[in-house]
Amino acid sequence: MTSGIELRGVTKDFVVRPGRGGPGTSVLRALEDVSLCVPPGEFLTLVGPSGSGKTTLLDLLGGLSRPTAGSVLVDGREVTGPGLDRGIVFQQYALFPWRTTLANVTFGLEQLGLTRRERTERAREHLALVGLDGFEDRYPHELSGGMKQRVAIARSLAYRPGILLMDEPFAALDAQTRDQLQDELLRIWRATGTTVVFITHRIEEAVYLGQRVAVLSSRPGRLKALVDIDLGDRRSTNDLRSDPAFVRYRHDVWTLLHDEVRRAQEAGHLKVQPDGTERAA
Ligand code: ADP
Ligand code: MG
Repeated sequence: MTSGIELRGVTKDFVVRPGRGGPGTSVLRALEDVSLCVPPGEFLTLVGPSGSGKTTLLDLLGGLSRPTAGSVLVDGREVTGPGLDRGIVFQQYALFPWRTTLANVTFGLEQLGLTRRERTERAREHLALVGLDGFEDRYPHELSGGMKQRVAIARSLAYRPGILLMDEPFAALDAQTRDQLQDELLRIWRATGTTVVFITHRIEEAVYLGQRVAVLSSRPGRLKALVDIDLGDRRSTNDLRSDPAFVRYRHDVWTLLHDEVRRAQEAGHLKVQPDGTERAA
C-alpha cells in the first residue's frame, strides 16, 4: 500500500504574540502558495534554509496542523488530522525510555486491531527490517543514537503506512552512522514501496536519497525549484558521492540554496553563527 500526496496552493500563517510590552499580535507567513505532487512510491527530499518552513510543511502533511489557505490531499482526500496512513520520524528519537525496543515498536499497534501475538510478530519483522534483530529486549539507554533512530523507523513502519514523513532524522548522528542509515533507508524504501518525504538541510543527503529534490525559498517558504535526480541504479556505483553526475547535482542544488540563504541573511531572518551554521533569527 503506497499513497500519493498533493499540495494545492498551501499557505501557512502563524499568529505571533508580541514580546512583553510590544504592540499587538502580528502574523508570520511561514509558507506561501506551495503546490506540489508527490506520486505514490516516490522518494522526495526537501531542502531549504533554516526557517523556510520545512517542518511546517511536514506538520501539515502529518495533519498536526492545518493550512491557512489551500489544501493538503493524500490519495485525493483532504488531510484533516494525523492518521496511521502517515508515519512520522523526527530528529529526536522520541522513544519511551521505560519500554524495551520490542515494546516501543508494539506500542500503538493495538489500534490496528492486531492480537498480542500478531503485534509481537509485526514488531519483530520490522526490527529485522532495520537490522535490529537480537536487540528486542534492550532499553533505549542501552542503544546508540543510530540504533535508537532505527527503532523509531521500525515503529513508524510497523503500521505499514503508505507515507513516511521524516524531519531531519539523521541530523544528530555522526557522519559514518548517517551514511549507513541512508543506505539502509534506501533499501527499506525499495523493499516497502512507501512514499517518502525526507527533510534535510544537508545538500549531499538530499541528492543521495531523493529521486527529486524540492528546494524551498527563504521565508516565506515557496517552492523555488524541483530538481530531478537521475543517477541510474545507485546500487551499481560504489562511490556514488564522487560520481561526476552526483557532484553536478550537488552543485546545482547548492547554487539554488545558496541564493536563498543569502537572501534570508539580507532580510535579517538568519544569523550566521560563529561555527558557520545558520540559525533562524
Ligand atoms: P524550518 O523547519 O525550515 O527550519 P519551520 O517550519 O520550523 O522552519 O519554521 C518556519 C517559520 O515559522 C520560522 O520563522 C518559525 O519561527 C515559524 N514558526 C514555526 N512554528 C511556529 C509556531 N507554532 N508559531 C509561530 N511561529 C512559528
Ligand atoms: Mg525544521
